[in-house]
Amino acid sequence: MRIDVFTLFPEIITSYAELSILGRAQQAGALKVHAHDLREGATDSRGTVDDAPFGGGAGMVLMPEPVCSAIEKVEAEGEMHRPLFFLSPGGRAFTQNVAREMAELPGFSLLCGRYEGADQRIIDLSCDGELSIGDVVLAGGELAALVIVESVARLLPGALGNSESSEEESFSDGLLEYPQYTRPASFRGHEVPPVLRSGNHGEVERWRLAESLRRTLERRPDLIAARGGLSEAERELLTAYPPSEST
Ligand code: SAH
Repeated sequence: MRIDVFTLFPEIITSYAELSILGRAQQAGALKVHAHDLREGATDSRGTVDDAPFGGGAGMVLMPEPVCSAIEKVEAEGEMHRPLFFLSPGGRAFTQNVAREMAELPGFSLLCGRYEGADQRIIDLSCDGELSIGDVVLAGGELAALVIVESVARLLPGALGNSESSEEESFSDGLLEYPQYTRPASFRGHEVPPVLRSGNHGEVERWRLAESLRRTLERRPDLIAARGGLSEAERELLTAYPPSEST
C-alpha cells in the first residue's frame, strides 16, 4: 500500500513512520509512506503557503495555489493514489470500519491542514473527501494523518505479528474488547479471573464474550443499539457470567 501525505511538517510523518509497526511494515514492503512538503508548491522564494482569510478573523489560511500545485506535482509522477482526503474536524468520522475499508485500497493520500485550515477551493478542486479523527481540534492534520496511517497499516496482512490480533479486538465485531491479563496471577491482592486459568477454552470464550458485552453495554450503549440490542443468547450469557468481584 502506498500513502502520500501532504504537510508543512514532513519530518513528523517520516520520523514516526520509521518506527515500530509502521517501520516494520515499510521494511517488509507492505507499506510505503511518502511525505511531501507543501512549501514545494510555493511560488515565492520565501515559500509562502498561507494568507489572511477573506472576510476577516483570526489566523491564517492555506492558499490554494501552492497547495494545489504541490499535489499536482506529485500526482503527475503517476504513483500517487486517490482518494485524497483533506483532514478536518468537519470531515467524515474516521472509525475502525472506515480503517477497514481503507485497508482494502492499493493506496490513498492525505492532506494536512494547519493554521485555521485550508481555502475551500483546495478541498473542492483537489480533494475527494474529508476525514476527521474525532470531535477535537488539533493544531494541524499531521497527528490525524498518523492516526489514520497507523490504524490502516496495522490491518495490512503481515503488519501485526499475529494475524489474529486484529480480528479479535475492540470494534471488530461491534463490541469493545474484554479485559486482558498477563502474569502474575496475583498482583497486589488482585487475582486474575479463575476462568482464564482453567484451561477450558470454551469457558474462556464465553467469559470473554460476556465481558465484552457487559463492557460495551456499560460504556458504549450506542454500539449495542447499533447492533440491534442484545440477543436472547447474549442476555443468558450475561446472567451465566456475572461481573467478576473486584478484590
Ligand atoms: N478552524 C478549523 C480548525 C483548524 S485546525 C475548524 O474550526 O474546523 C488546523 C488543521 O488541523 C485543520 O485544517 C485540520 O487539517 C487539522 N485538524 C484539526 N483537528 C482535526 C481533526 N479532529 N481531525 C482531522 N484533522 C484535524
